[in-house]
Amino acid sequence: MSSNSPDERTLVLIKPDAVRRGLVGEVLSRFERKGLRIDAMVHRTMDAALADTHYAEHVDKAFYPPLKDFMTGGPLVALVLSGDQVIDVVRGLVGATDGRKAVAGTIRGDLSLSNRENLVHASDSPDSAKREIALWFPELG
Ligand code: ADP
Ligand code: MG
Repeated sequence: MSSNSPDERTLVLIKPDAVRRGLVGEVLSRFERKGLRIDAMVHRTMDAALADTHYAEHVDKAFYPPLKDFMTGGPLVALVLSGDQVIDVVRGLVGATDGRKAVAGTIRGDLSLSNRENLVHASDSPDSAKREIALWFPELG
């Protein structure tokens, strides 16, 4: 990969727990200080249909019903970030799923003590980024 390779995009959700706790600025500032660009951003409440589509890979899992209640239970902030290798870079900044196990220095490691209310969603692959950006920001397609 040369440094001239085109920048990627990823979909991030600053989840309802982060909005409720007043951590939107804290989370955004970590992405901005890293050098990532914000290409789109909206304040929105997820409805049940959007939750089922966004989390299609998880709808049959035992943790999904409470996850759905949590994610649809208050407003969130959805955004598209771009930058060099942004998908992996953002996953690294966010940290492991379980906030109790995520390493210090990551968003979840520093700010979450839960495996459900873990502050941020971030796309995990180029395919999921493409699908999730189309779902949340069809105008960017
Ligand atoms: P990630 O958000 O790190 O990609 P997953 O895609 O595995 O994690 O899960 C999606 C979301 O579902 C997690 O961010 C978390 O909010 C919730 N979740 C995952 N696993 C569990 C679990 N074992 N118990 C409760 N909630 C979970
Ligand atoms: Mg995931």
